[in-house]
Amino acid sequence: MRYLEMGFTFASIGFIVANTVLSVLIVLAWRVTRSSLRRSTHLFLYRMLPAIGSAAVVLGVILPAYWSFEPRETGESAGPALFAVALFAAALAGAGLYRAIVSWRTTRRLERAWTSVAIGTTDLGIAARTYRVPSDLPLAALVGVFRPRLFVSDRFLDELSAGERQAVVDHEAAHISAFDNLKRTVMSLAPDWVSFTAAGRQIESAWAFAAEEEADDRAAGSDRARALDLAAALLKAVRLAPMRCAHVSNFCDGATIARRVERLLEDSPGREQPSRSFVPRVAWVLAILVAAGLLASPALHAAYSLTEAASQLLQ
Ligand SMILES: [Zn+2]
Repeated sequence: MRYLEMGFTFASIGFIVANTVLSVLIVLAWRVTRSSLRRSTHLFLYRMLPAIGSAAVVLGVILPAYWSFEPRETGESAGPALFAVALFAAALAGAGLYRAIVSWRTTRRLERAWTSVAIGTTDLGIAARTYRVPSDLPLAALVGVFRPRLFVSDRFLDELSAGERQAVVDHEAAHISAFDNLKRTVMSLAPDWVSFTAAGRQIESAWAFAAEEEADDRAAGSDRARALDLAAALLKAVRLAPMRCAHVSNFCDGATIARRVERLLEDSPGREQPSRSFVPRVAWVLAILVAAGLLASPALHAAYSLTEAASQLLQ
């Protein structure tokens, strides 16, 4: 029992230290790189790095080191300070869970309000159950992580031409295939210090912005007529009333429309096809770090000694 208790404490110390270092690095790096990061995948990984990185350090280095070097019949026990560190780690995870629950409840409230007035479902050719809502607001909002539901207002659909309607549907379908609602939820769950900083909120807003632009790019493709249909749909939405729904992706988010229309109207589009090269690169770096941690006995020993010293200090 002592062995498990100390193992949990070791993991907590490693998690808190790695999380703090990575969170500080991300906050500092954000000041320098904020204008050059544009792709949603990059921003998502950037936002998730402290949580993923500290989990990798615990699973790839700290726990294997503890397993290799701590005697099974350890006589050590966790004192109050060590218990406080474990509590800190649990609080970080709990705060993430709390944020996700608050966001989920707000979304559920919105969804219940829309469903209660919905006048039925409709088939717009998208892989999501689609509800028509009798509202004057330009609503086209995708809700749900694994079973997406689309809510569209009658008035907005009626205002759109067939081409514009298709462009809106393709834009929402792009959000589904990019798992944008899942990514939004994962970011709010992230157990890290970045969540409590302005930089964290800015990275999440930049991600949401990039996700909108990339959904536009996928919907428009290289077809100028489709880009113009999408721009026209956005302008019609603004004319009805720009909307802001913080917890769901609404097609016509008032804060992003001007830049999106400008991009869609560009003669030589600055719209690039999404590059996927960054993800394998990060995956490789993490895999090499984990493999190095697992294979290098001196590194494991160093990790064990450092964590043991930290735990002695806190006893
Ligand atoms: Zn969108």
